[in-house]
Amino acid sequence: LPGLKDKAALVTGAGSGIGKAAAIALASQGVKVCLLDLKNDRTEQVKEEIIAQQGEAVTLDADVSDPVRMMQAVENAAKSWGRLDIVFANAGINGVLAPIEDMKPEDWDHTLFVNLKGTFLTVKYAVPHMKQNGGSIIVTSSINGSRVFSNFGMSAYSTSKAGQVAFAKMAALELARYKIRVNTICPGSIQTKISENTHPSPELQKIKIPVKYPEGSQPLEHTPGQPEQVGDLVAFLASDASSHMTGTELFIDGAESLL
Ligand code: NAD
Repeated sequence: LPGLKDKAALVTGAGSGIGKAAAIALASQGVKVCLLDLKNDRTEQVKEEIIAQQGEAVTLDADVSDPVRMMQAVENAAKSWGRLDIVFANAGINGVLAPIEDMKPEDWDHTLFVNLKGTFLTVKYAVPHMKQNGGSIIVTSSINGSRVFSNFGMSAYSTSKAGQVAFAKMAALELARYKIRVNTICPGSIQTKISENTHPSPELQKIKIPVKYPEGSQPLEHTPGQPEQVGDLVAFLASDASSHMTGTELFIDGAESLL
């Protein structure tokens, strides 16, 4: 892809799933990547995988919702390679799923903090390092933040994902003057570890939820998407092949959201 070689990227949520696949896709195009995640050993494994394929990567640990840690982490990311051109604001959780009347305010806050405030902080602290040379920011929202509102118990998640789309559009508008593009991707069901961070409340489990369409009925492949398919889209949006695209939201869901 054009314009990727020797660029530098920060990927949040890089230890697993979509973030990991995007980091590997970017590194395979000659991008030097900073792999940010909560403190765990997964980013080290991703780093080793990238280095084994002749790519370049470093790891960083921070909670994306913590302003102090994120300010330091983005600073360190920019210092690692002496530049910052690409930011993939991707870390996210499903969090606690509960009916609205039972949703604990602190559980609502936690989902909004990680998914929405985390995106804001990632972008906020990246801009000073990107505004000189321009670049590309990609945000992971979901079809659940823009097209699909059929999952009981996911009001906090959907609200955070809808907020990300609005935020990315405002960022695209404001940052165009620095030649920084900002686009949002909206995946459908992708086979990742996100369900490990999903906590259905006891109240939710008692509700008989109408199923709009059964699992696996995604029209294109009849299976959840693979993280690598999303990683390829991220590499495209990071590259000069998408140089006239900003402020868009792109669905990557095998037509799941059209059912
Ligand atoms: P995943 O759980 O496999 O990966 C998410 C990564 O983010 C994990 O490594 C986790 O440790 C990290 N993370 C979580 N909270 C963090 C925090 N506070 N600070 C830093 N890192 C944190 O899940 P995934 O499916 O790859 O999710 C990536 C993004 O894709 C999320 O924003 C999610 O909402 C979105 N998404 C996923 C799907 C899907 O079906 N998997 C669909 C639509 C959107």
